[in-house]
This record gives sequence, structure tokens and C-alpha cells, in this order.
Amino acid sequence: MVSKDEAESAVRTLLDYLGEDTGREGLVDTPKRVIKSWDEIFAGYHQSSAEVLESTFNGEGYDGIVLLRDVEFHSTCEHHLQPFRGRAHVAYIPTERIVGISKLARIVELHSHRLQNQERITKNVADDLEEHLQPLGCAVIIEASHGCMQCRGVKKQNAIMTTSAMRGVFFDKAEARSELMQLIRTNPL
Ligand SMILES: [Zn+2]
Repeated sequence: MVSKDEAESAVRTLLDYLGEDTGREGLVDTPKRVIKSWDEIFAGYHQSSAEVLESTFNGEGYDGIVLLRDVEFHSTCEHHLQPFRGRAHVAYIPTERIVGISKLARIVELHSHRLQNQERITKNVADDLEEHLQPLGCAVIIEASHGCMQCRGVKKQNAIMTTSAMRGVFFDKAEARSELMQLIRTNPL
């Protein structure tokens, strides 16, 4: 177990590595601020999907698509510790139980607030919906731009990466997939 003091001192070491004067006014509290921001950015390590999705409601026979689209998120790439950000579309078709709509956004947050790659967030959100809601189908589509590609390496500013996980009826049936795509593309209110 690494203490907060040790974590802050590790940040100070990195600033030293840059050749910076870690005692100057602008930097003296930077290690503290960095670790405080990490507590927020990486809060997902202290949350569990089971808890987020534990309270469900009777769906009262609703058997259409439930879609929460344009869920903005912010994550950190595990390879370079660079931010990546974008939006997620999360959908499922209930069998018996439905879940509060904010929980779908919370599941995206929980996974994005860890060291990640986009593929894993996409898969993990779909896995959670399958496991905890046993839906007829579920789908997760994520579009994101990646800091590690924008400010270093290949330096592409506008490239968007899209990933998708289609499960159950969204995997099996082209009609279900195309209805979902139509709903995602419908103009906002
Ligand atoms: Zn990266």
C-alpha cells in the first residue's frame, strides 16, 4: 500500500526529472493537486458495477429499446497516461427488469475512471449490462479522441476511434441493430 505522501513525492520526482525547481511558487503544491485530481479521475477503482446496478424496477412489460446516448466521458489511456474523451451510447432491451437511466451513465463513469483502453470500456459496460440485467440484448458504442495520438506520436488531431459491443438480439438480428442506429442518429430534441 502506497501512502499519499509517497505518491506526492513520486510526482515531485517526475517534476525533478523535467529539470524543474519543485520549490517555486507555482509548483510547490502541484504534487498535492495531482494526487487529489487522481483520486477523482481514478475513482472507478473504488466502485463496483454490482452496487451501481443492484436496484432494478419492474419493466411492466416494456420490451423496446432503452437507449441512453451521447454520454460524455473522460478516461486515461493505460499506455501513456494521456487523457482520452468522447461519448458513449448505451442500449438494452429489457426482459423483466429495468434500471434507473442514470445508472447507465454511472457504469460508463465507473469504467472510464480507471486506467483504460477504449475497447475494454466498451466490453466491460456490455458485460455488466448482460450480467446484472439479463437483457434480451445490449449494445455499447463508444466514439473517442485520444490525447496520446493528438499530442505525441502520429499527431492526428481529428481522428475519432469507434468501438462497439453488440450482444444478444443486437448481435443476432440486423433489424435490431439498424433500429438502434436510427435512434442514435435521430436529431436531438
Ligand atoms: Zn495511449
